[in-house]
Amino acid sequence: MYHAIIFTGLDVGSKNYFRPLGAYRIRTELESKGYKVKVIDYFHNLEDEHIETALDKYVGKETLWVGFSTTFFNTSELLAKRSPFFERLRKKYSVPFVMGGAKSIVEYLDWADIFITGYADDATVAVTNYLADKGPTPVWRDYKGKKVIDSNHQYDKKDLSNIGVVWKPEDGIDSRQALPMEIARGCIFNCAFCNFPLNNKTKFDYVRVKDDMQNEFIRNYENFGTTSYWLMDDTYNDSMQKLELMHDIITSLPFKIKFDTYVKPELLVRWPDQIDLLVETGLRGASFGVESLNTRARQAIQKGANADKVLDAITSMKQKSNGQVKVQCNFIVGLPYEDEKSIWKTHETVINHDAIDWWNWYPLLIHSKDHHEYHSPIDRDPAKYGYEVASTPVLIKNTGAGKTNAWNTMWRNDYMNSMTAGKLAGKLRNMDQPLLKIGGWSCGSYESLGVDVDKHYETFDGMEKDLPIDSMLQNKKKIIDDYIQKEIV
Ligand code: SF4
Repeated sequence: MYHAIIFTGLDVGSKNYFRPLGAYRIRTELESKGYKVKVIDYFHNLEDEHIETALDKYVGKETLWVGFSTTFFNTSELLAKRSPFFERLRKKYSVPFVMGGAKSIVEYLDWADIFITGYADDATVAVTNYLADKGPTPVWRDYKGKKVIDSNHQYDKKDLSNIGVVWKPEDGIDSRQALPMEIARGCIFNCAFCNFPLNNKTKFDYVRVKDDMQNEFIRNYENFGTTSYWLMDDTYNDSMQKLELMHDIITSLPFKIKFDTYVKPELLVRWPDQIDLLVETGLRGASFGVESLNTRARQAIQKGANADKVLDAITSMKQKSNGQVKVQCNFIVGLPYEDEKSIWKTHETVINHDAIDWWNWYPLLIHSKDHHEYHSPIDRDPAKYGYEVASTPVLIKNTGAGKTNAWNTMWRNDYMNSMTAGKLAGKLRNMDQPLLKIGGWSCGSYESLGVDVDKHYETFDGMEKDLPIDSMLQNKKKIIDDYIQKEIV
């Protein structure tokens, strides 16, 4: 039997296949302290019956808590809407239900006992020790009659020398599937719209150590044949030093890897030598947060280099890699000083740009201060950036930024408002669908479902509309069905 059971999942669309990382990291941390933990993945695909069967199977007298790793959950749809069901389960199993991950406090769930925000490695150990009568009361505060822990402040993990993930055969991994791997935590920048946690870090205090990463690559290769990765890092290329470290690690492996990650294009402008380091280590999908090509908007959100230089750097990356790197660019509709005309001008540039394979338009979100743990500079002080915001936030159960939910504040500035920005982003997204090629994070996703991305470029110029959708859906269904059969039923 298990001391803790954690439900997790990541599903952003039917033809995509991604794996979450957080719950597996927590499992690795707790197991290193002597606890037994069961992670149950594919939560988006589980019926009520599956969830209850899993808990019947894995909850026992030693079980201390049942957790939900919410980072990629639409908590309105997956949890709040099913409250009567979870209330019944909470009573039936009579162990605390713990909410963790980035969405842990977006919906207040009366049937949950403990809410943990932030990077929860050490906070979860503290809670588990406490519930096992092996440790003091965790540093938590009252939260509407429950407990909430602010991990990033109360349990900030300073020691990043051992934060790998030990994947297991029970996780259902085959050699073609990509795995997520954490490289660093936090970001040294502080872009005005960004509410990722741990921004504004001091350089190099947040990067994993060499041996720990090297061991993880080798362990995954030996156990599963893994050579395909999503490298999780808010800004993978934030220093030459980090890229040289990764180059050292990856080129000394007795096998080659391919990976997708976030690349900050302004830093390719500053350090052009980064391009060779990235290409030589196997960069396959680059996700660039370009956000805007409008000079005034870029300055307002603290994006450094001018847009032409950024586009030149992206072109150079594409050319130098001889097409190895598949480029994703992300744009925001509703930034300071940017009107609709400027967005259409950007649109014209993007759809005609040879180096940009895949792109997306996201409406600017101004998050409610009361319902999200992390806040961007714009969230914190909208007026400073020219936004007037409504006093009451609204729970958006399906935002335009994917299938997610969020507490947002309606806004307007001199150029747009939250409604027009949302509509325009949606319109552009729909219009551009037929033009997209495979790029960025999707590379590992599609390869996990059996697509050879390079061959798809040779044969179909990489066009997404020519993907073998039926076989991808079948492969995804098989992975998930096999997992449910083996681990739950
Ligand atoms: S947008 Fe990227 S570079 Fe800017 S603060 Fe957020 S994570 Fe860092």
